[in-house]
Amino acid sequence: MKLYNTATREKEEFKPNEPGVVKMYTCGPTVYHFAHIGNLRTYIMEDVLEKYLGYSGLKVERVMNITDVGHLTSDADTGEDKMLAGARREKKTVMDIARYYTDAFFADCEKLNIKKPETVVPATTEIAEFIKVVAALIDNGHAYVSDGNVYFDTSKLDEYYVFNRHDAEDLEEGVREGVGVDAAKKNKTDFVLWFTKSKFEDQELKWESPWGLGYPGWHIECSAISMKYLGERLDIHCGGIDNAFPHHTNEIAQSEAYLGHKWCNFWFHVHHLNTNHGKMSKSSGEFLTVSLLEEKGYDPLAYRLFCLGSHYRKNLTFSWEGLDGAASSYAGLVKKVAALKGPAGIAAGDEEEAKRLDASFRDALDSDLNTSMAVTALYDVFKAKIADGTKLALVGKFDEVLSLGLLAAAEKAKDSESEDGGDAGIDGALRKKIEEMIKQRADAKAAKNYAEADRIRNELSSMGVTLIDSKEGTTYKIG
Ligand code: AMP
Ligand code: ZN
Repeated sequence: MKLYNTATREKEEFKPNEPGVVKMYTCGPTVYHFAHIGNLRTYIMEDVLEKYLGYSGLKVERVMNITDVGHLTSDADTGEDKMLAGARREKKTVMDIARYYTDAFFADCEKLNIKKPETVVPATTEIAEFIKVVAALIDNGHAYVSDGNVYFDTSKLDEYYVFNRHDAEDLEEGVREGVGVDAAKKNKTDFVLWFTKSKFEDQELKWESPWGLGYPGWHIECSAISMKYLGERLDIHCGGIDNAFPHHTNEIAQSEAYLGHKWCNFWFHVHHLNTNHGKMSKSSGEFLTVSLLEEKGYDPLAYRLFCLGSHYRKNLTFSWEGLDGAASSYAGLVKKVAALKGPAGIAAGDEEEAKRLDASFRDALDSDLNTSMAVTALYDVFKAKIADGTKLALVGKFDEVLSLGLLAAAEKAKDSESEDGGDAGIDGALRKKIEEMIKQRADAKAAKNYAEADRIRNELSSMGVTLIDSKEGTTYKIG
């Protein structure tokens, strides 16, 4: 598999250190609010990556942290802890909101068929580990105490900006909230490993440490948790592109200074989901959640398909029209699967064609996780001249990776089709929209505005909806 590596800026053949086993680390959510669908775009693409590595015969050991302390309102060690701000907003304790939003995050993941990593580690459960790593960094001269805090000394490194060696612009892209200047730092790029009470008096959760009562910096959490659970050599580290700097840059600095050797080979970064006003972010307050999509009648898996339709290394702008398109494609896919006669299994004589179709699915994902090509490979299954059982078997296999829940949705659609016929499998929002458009078209016709009526018919057609006019009125079919 060729995968783009942010560290080398090249598409490289992905090879784990230990043949057959992949050690994969993922930055988990900061649990001070609901995850928005931008965060979840990152987790969807990481989920596809994990599942495709498994599909390719590798065993994936995956660890994710939960950031429940230390992530400040600016990634550059200034401002207050986001968890504290969340707790104040909701008049609850930090631990209460951590528990609540961690559960909410995994509930959203389940709705999007994102697999929960085997090992999930809340930062607050690993304080002793952080203290151990910070103490070792002071001992080996890579960290210092100043004005009550422990800082990492970036001047001791041969190279600090690992991700933007060749192009300063990338640094700009990665920065989340600007770099503040802290007078206690020896160098502008130094960052905090451990905060003490001397600086942030109102922090709710604090622990004893050799440097006083305090709490860990966000970056040290991921390094220490990753090294504890996945060992000294990590194969791949994932996150959104905004994590590349400073978070991942700092993780590399401190992990390699601690270990004395190279730590992680591959860096996989998912680009942003944007709104019309820029990156979707929790702090801006302007964000969409899975629950909100559901309230509007969308199946969360239509959003998963929306994400699969674009490459993870391109920014994706969210629009309701785009989601409608994905919802209609999803309904169409479910309908195609529901129309196949089981049981699933490669029929005699279909072996070669099945192999070819599987190869084109693999080619797509081998090519830097090209999910939209993989979805095209899925559509090719329906067009192929093979038995329905073979098609069902291939759909089931591909969906182990794409995780659109197609077989289950098709079963459900078949059940409801016998109850209400016609448009089974499409979600409420789309059904409502189609019915509304049919009504607008009827009104336009009644007003002899045939151009408008044709425009509506064409728009529906581009959504995959075919209108059927009869004496009784207009019905429709999808696909
Ligand atoms: P956070 O909960 O803020 O720690 O972020 C969780 C994950 O979502 C991180 O990997 C971020 O890089 C990622 N992320 C944040 N905003 C976006 C966005 N608009 N689009 C895609 N990923 C994002
Ligand atoms: Zn992290």
